[in-house]
Amino acid sequence: MAQYLEIKDAHKDALLFYRMGDFYEMFFDDAVAASEALDIALTKRGKHAGEDIPMCGVPVHSAEGYLLTLIRKGFRVGVCEQMEDPAEAKKRGSKSVVRREVVRLVTPGTLTEESLLEARRHNFLCAYALVRDEAALAWVDISTGEFHAMLVPPVRLGPELARLMPSEVVVSETQEHDLAEIVSESGAALTPLSRSAFDSASAEKRLCALFEVSSLDAFGQFSRAEVSAMGAVVEYLEITQKGKLPLLRKPQREAQARVMQIDAATRRNLELTRAMTGTRAGSLLAAIDHTVTAAGARLLERRLSSPSRILSAIHERLDAVDFAVKQGRICSSLRDDLRKVPDLDRALSRLGLDRGGPRDLTAIRNGLEQAGQISDRLAALDLPPLLTQSAKALVGHDELLDLLDQALVAEPPLLARDGGFIAPGYDDELDEMRQLRDEGRGVIAKMQAQYSQETGISALKIKHNNVLGYFVEVTATHADKMLSEPLSDTFKHRQTTANQVRFTTIPLSEMETKILNAGGRALEIEKRLFESLRHAILSRADQIGAASHALAEIDLSTSLADLARAEDWIRPNVDDSRRLHIEAGRHPVVEQALKKQGGAPFIANDCELADGSDGADIWLLTGPNMAGKSTFLRQNALIALLAQMGSYVPAKKAEIGLVSQLFSRVGASDDLARGRSTFMVEMVETAAILNQSDDRALVILDEIGRGTATYDGLSIAWATLEHLHDVNKCRALFATHYHEMTNLAGKLPGVENATVAVKEFEGDVIFLHEVRKGAADRSYGVQVAKLAGLPDAVVARARVVLDALEKGEREGGKKQAVIDDLPLFAAAPAPTPAPEIGPNPLEQRLESIIPDELSPREALNLIYELKALK
Ligand code: ADP
Repeated sequence: MAQYLEIKDAHKDALLFYRMGDFYEMFFDDAVAASEALDIALTKRGKHAGEDIPMCGVPVHSAEGYLLTLIRKGFRVGVCEQMEDPAEAKKRGSKSVVRREVVRLVTPGTLTEESLLEARRHNFLCAYALVRDEAALAWVDISTGEFHAMLVPPVRLGPELARLMPSEVVVSETQEHDLAEIVSESGAALTPLSRSAFDSASAEKRLCALFEVSSLDAFGQFSRAEVSAMGAVVEYLEITQKGKLPLLRKPQREAQARVMQIDAATRRNLELTRAMTGTRAGSLLAAIDHTVTAAGARLLERRLSSPSRILSAIHERLDAVDFAVKQGRICSSLRDDLRKVPDLDRALSRLGLDRGGPRDLTAIRNGLEQAGQISDRLAALDLPPLLTQSAKALVGHDELLDLLDQALVAEPPLLARDGGFIAPGYDDELDEMRQLRDEGRGVIAKMQAQYSQETGISALKIKHNNVLGYFVEVTATHADKMLSEPLSDTFKHRQTTANQVRFTTIPLSEMETKILNAGGRALEIEKRLFESLRHAILSRADQIGAASHALAEIDLSTSLADLARAEDWIRPNVDDSRRLHIEAGRHPVVEQALKKQGGAPFIANDCELADGSDGADIWLLTGPNMAGKSTFLRQNALIALLAQMGSYVPAKKAEIGLVSQLFSRVGASDDLARGRSTFMVEMVETAAILNQSDDRALVILDEIGRGTATYDGLSIAWATLEHLHDVNKCRALFATHYHEMTNLAGKLPGVENATVAVKEFEGDVIFLHEVRKGAADRSYGVQVAKLAGLPDAVVARARVVLDALEKGEREGGKKQAVIDDLPLFAAAPAPTPAPEIGPNPLEQRLESIIPDELSPREALNLIYELKALK
């Protein structure tokens, strides 16, 4: 208990998995919390200060599953192992306790086990550092070794976390309070670390030592804040890995100017990597993922989360996809080869942390073998630059590959300690020991026959278990015979169970010792060979990492080509103009969903923004609900994004002028899932757009201003559009149900009206989903309501009211006020100046109305009242 308390004291913020033989046990509060979180029994063990000690435990062999649950529930776990054999402790004295140490802290950002990670996703650990007036974010995926840093001012932290989706963010304890909200919004765990961990001077030393360089300049010009953040990452890894550092690749500096800026709300809204429901299914990522390797899938998610703004990089990637599209046959054989590529990065990282097993060795072997195969396939071809570069990284592994090929069996067991993974013929001594061990087993089989004959007991068996070792077993019926002379001279009684009696003999024990010794020696040799193979691999970690990256790149290019062919996508033309010309564009996710349903096909639509001279920058889109406005808005944003990540796009033709920032917002009433005042959220988000958009931004606004009273909403939408046009001068698609706004097209040269066409047929509305230039004539709210299944009586009533309103409006212009306050009927044509008529009772009554103070019911009553006044 003294040992436990001492160790626990040093790890107060983690649950302590305290190794006791085949179990990890937890005590005191840890036991209470863990038993609840894991739904396992809480018991007691011994007393402390006169009180029972609460305890629970999990078997070591199934600990990973429990760890996963605890990490998901927000715990950190300290894994405390026995550091010596209990026999050794006994040697020191009968009261000696087995030495134990925490060998690792398991936290969300530092997982490496296959079962704890999602194969196709990165698991990032971030650190955020503020040094004077600079701030930077560093991030690492220790399961793949990727290590990056970037200057990120506090206002950009939220968007960057939304991009990376880290599972843990480390901050200085002095910042914990200020950053808690922003980090928790990103869904990551927040871990405070002492201020000293962020000291940039010692961070630099730590990093130089780690990468064995004299100055970090070797990797680029890092700022103090970046060095501080990277240093904190490394410090935290040292703390959690207890001094064993994972293999980290050379740190790379990222710059915001190199990637398309997309904030958290836009990502959510466009459902880039997660659908609104929070699942991967239904997201753009799920719709475009044809990758066949885990590393390829991770690269795809990274590219999709960070579309490029560097034209040359975009073209290079598109060239690679283009090549794969044109070389269909080669592309599909490459994909077959790639399917056999295991996760090299993660195998390498486990080996680096000394947590690997024989299967990680064979993963490296199989991966490098496939790399060779793929490079052969590419050899004779005229490759575009990106693939030429990748192909280069695939070769040069022959020596290591030969070594692994000779050393390893085809399908090794999971754990190194079981042995059996080194191939016969690789090590003479090992072969010899194995032979001795196996021969011994043969001898024992012979002994059984011999004893059976000697005793005349045909059912006599020689068996093995961990307690007795090898033993002779007969059924209880033969007990007397065996226990009396002459047999009792040879057979020494060891154990009697309900039905069996067990004996040993001297030759049997001797043979057992021989087998054990040979077996033990064989295991030792295998362990040594494992270490030497591990080192051979780690000495080439950089090259293997490069090969893995190259394979991921080839997987991504060929999978995007596969997607492009399957879905009939085309190569976009990306340049540095401000155009957004999309001919016959489609929404990839909606189109696939419609296809699955097997119903109506997706209707392709054009979008023409800013043709460089006099074209409009902004399209104002009107049309009834359900017509397809949101779909159209989003599809254009997605096409620009896909183009800049280096993918083909769902269109007939696409000319995309580089987009620097992408914003997408939906009016409040679509965003009810979030707890805050939705209108407030909408306005905060709109403010962000108006404050940040530059003239290369692409802005998608869907029904902005809907979350408040009509007049407020209309005014806000109106002013927002004017600001986008006059100040931000960005490209925008703006959907609204305020038909009054279509007037803006006449007033602002950069604004053009567009509408989604519908047809009316016998009182019903038919959605054509066709986007055309011009304004919508009306909103068809009543028809849509009918489609939605509103009771006939209500629909009929609504029609009557609508007719009345429309008639009233035609006859007296000021009724517009009443109409405008009923959003369902906001589909008024552009207001015409009211004819001057002298005040009559109707007008007087109208004058007295304050629409903002009316409930819908009062409004309806008022309409009856007004009708009566006519
Ligand atoms: P709005 O924003 O105008 O209310 P949505 O964009 O949400 O309308 O579209 C409503 C539904 O219409 C979508 O769920 C989709 O099934 C269908 N739809 C939208 N656009 C198209 C299209 N271009 N072709 C076919 N169906 C479409």
